[in-house]
Amino acid sequence: MVIPSLIQHKRDGHPLSPEQWAGLIREYTAGRVPDYQMAALLMAVVWRGLEPTELTALTDAMLESGDRLRFDGFALPRVDKHSTGGIGDKVSLLLAPMVASCGVAVPMMSGRGLGHTGGTLDKLESIPGFRTNLSLGEARAQVERLGCAMLGQTAEIAPADKRLYALRDVTGTVESIPLISASIMSKKLAEGLTGLVLDVKTGSGAFLPETPRALELARTMIGLAQTHRCPTVALLTAMDRPLGRSCGNSLEVEESIQGLRGEGPPDLMEVTYALGVEMLLLAGTDRDAAAARARLEQSVMSGRALSKFQEIIEAQGGDPRVVEDPELLPQADEVEIFRAERDGVASRVEPRRIGQAIVELGGGRRTIEDAIDPGVGFVIPVKPGDPVREGEPLASIFARDRDGVRLGIEALREAIVVGETGSSTPLITHRVTSAGVEDLT
Ligand code: URA
Repeated sequence: MVIPSLIQHKRDGHPLSPEQWAGLIREYTAGRVPDYQMAALLMAVVWRGLEPTELTALTDAMLESGDRLRFDGFALPRVDKHSTGGIGDKVSLLLAPMVASCGVAVPMMSGRGLGHTGGTLDKLESIPGFRTNLSLGEARAQVERLGCAMLGQTAEIAPADKRLYALRDVTGTVESIPLISASIMSKKLAEGLTGLVLDVKTGSGAFLPETPRALELARTMIGLAQTHRCPTVALLTAMDRPLGRSCGNSLEVEESIQGLRGEGPPDLMEVTYALGVEMLLLAGTDRDAAAARARLEQSVMSGRALSKFQEIIEAQGGDPRVVEDPELLPQADEVEIFRAERDGVASRVEPRRIGQAIVELGGGRRTIEDAIDPGVGFVIPVKPGDPVREGEPLASIFARDRDGVRLGIEALREAIVVGETGSSTPLITHRVTSAGVEDLT
């Protein structure tokens, strides 16, 4: 295989054949194509896109790069949720135990931080001892025993996505409908699901900020799911401000635990319940959305969802005491309050700037080799449209040292814009299925 000619071919706008995609992914996964050549090819895809046959071939090659979770003879429906990436988006940490405690199996394969967005694996690994590199056997056994396993790509499952995802993270090659679709769907199709819910983010903090592009992404992923007979529903949700209040790995675990106690911020709970309702409807546990929602609320109010999270943490080697005592999570050395510099209304709370600042503080990666600092981040209670008074606390910065605090203040000055007016956009705007698009606004 002559990789430079494939790169040139794609760079010049010509499609690669399904055999070329299959060979390329096979050789890359086996370590016989260097990262620099793959990065060049990915950049060509960002610019040139993929034709439908190329997208199917890439997704299938990534899916076939590893084995799949198989649930032969397993009676429960198996449903998962995946987000296209956001800031403060800790929904997976709440949903997996909530839905599992409603009697639906959730084999959840997630990713690490990507670009300016946070990743479920990094959040989970901020729990001391928590292991996400489960073998296929361990993941299946845990799903059968507890109804849920939360894992990452390994050499056994979705290894091509594991390498490509890490490479895209540090080479500016995330923002592409075909690359996001192939990455998400190759992982999800390896999970042996009976249904899938997608949370497609829109707004300035999303990889694809414009609603028409987000809708195209949703339709592309649903198309791939249909080819593989996996019933799939997507909701478009707002990422023009952070979701919830906490942004940063261990801070988000703490807020997830609050959510599982029924004490989470309203926006986080609203998105979580809406996606959870779709999961239960796909699983067939309830006939309508109101009944599904009541079942989920009951799982939280009864404490079953929180106990399920504790069981998952324990089963994956984590310290289950974090649920009672979140101070056992990694803490930042420096904490500082950020105050409003004038009276007015919060007109913007810019998630992309906040995500970038978390990477700068050490909470995300700039190179593949970077270790991350799980304790850093922000707690930002203020939302667009909130009235603000000079001197009032708007946010807290959690940093490793004083330089980090200064960097955090700088970032918040840019991210939180106080003006004369401001308002909040709707949280959930569209529902997409194979039948079409419903506008929910
Ligand atoms: N989530 C993924 O798993 N992959 C992407 O490319 C983006 C979000």
